[in-house]
Amino acid sequence: MFEGLRKRLRGVSRKLGESITEGEDTPGTGEISPAANGAAGTEKPGQTGLASRVKVLITERELVISEKDISEALSELEMILLESDVALPVTDDIISHVRSNLIGKHRKIGDNVDDIVIDALRGALLDVLGPGFDLVRYIGEHERPVRLLFTGVNGTGKTTTVAKVAYFLKQKGYSVVIGAGDTFRAGAIEQIDVHAQRVGIKVIQHQQGGDPSAVLFDAVQYATAHHIDVVLADTAGRFHNRANLMNQLDKIRRVMKPDLIIYVDEAVAGNDAVIRAHEFEKTVGADAVILTKADMDSKGGAAISIAHTIGKPLMFLGNGQGYEDIIPFSPEQVVSELLKEAPDA
Ligand code: GDP
Repeated sequence: MFEGLRKRLRGVSRKLGESITEGEDTPGTGEISPAANGAAGTEKPGQTGLASRVKVLITERELVISEKDISEALSELEMILLESDVALPVTDDIISHVRSNLIGKHRKIGDNVDDIVIDALRGALLDVLGPGFDLVRYIGEHERPVRLLFTGVNGTGKTTTVAKVAYFLKQKGYSVVIGAGDTFRAGAIEQIDVHAQRVGIKVIQHQQGGDPSAVLFDAVQYATAHHIDVVLADTAGRFHNRANLMNQLDKIRRVMKPDLIIYVDEAVAGNDAVIRAHEFEKTVGADAVILTKADMDSKGGAAISIAHTIGKPLMFLGNGQGYEDIIPFSPEQVVSELLKEAPDA
């Protein structure tokens, strides 16, 4: 997952570190005088030799990181982020976060510059990734049945994702029912039915071409009558007719009253996924996002950009074709993955 970006981030953070340490040879204006604690001056003759006195002077000397120390490496970082499909405003935010975190930072000669650089990058990435969304906690805090409505572009993995979330919640001990609300696409009802059978979840379904609101209403009724914890509503994900989609979703909203609208798209679509999610959020509204196919995405740009761009959290990453291949999105974990030192880096 995001392997290409990880390697490039390691490369540029190393370069940032090197360009900062190069300043040690020509400290110039960035140099701060030796710590004025009299460390060398307080020595009594005979107590310390000249060599160690010089060492004290050097190791106590502080440098300040300046713009010129890092500007070239920051330009490279900017290129890497853009080439990895990180959205332009998000790239700008990351760069300015790293810049303001590094410039003016005091460091002692001999300090581990790599740690300073990695800390700055970590802070910048965590800042744009946002907090994520803890679905289990959300369900724990809400009235039953909790109603989750899934929408997104066909082919991105929406149906599989509904089954994965059902499986995930079942593993967590919740009872789940699926509403087959994609009554538009031929084969969609059978598709969700097959998935649901495999993960052992009941599906409420009507005929193809029926009113999705009616199916989803029935799914909620069923859940209420049988004390089911969560209703997962699959819906048609077509965008070619936006007016129709919006009318349909409006009706579903009124009838089913979803607690959360979850937008599903694929990480491999990069910037396109971010643009589509933004558009969807502006016109229809979403509460959270799931990105599928993160396992096939070397760049990571959509995962890094989407929450910051649309202002809604990432909830899960899909990372394979199996039902267990879904991971709750953890910003800390993703950043650790991205910044980890691997033997091949
Ligand atoms: P829908 O048309 O959006 O409902 O898409 P589907 O659920 O039918 O999925 C389309 C294809 O994407 C299927 O072959 C899925 O197995 C595959 N898929 C879904 N999620 C993932 C994922 O996280 N990783 C990978 N590698 N494939 C996925």
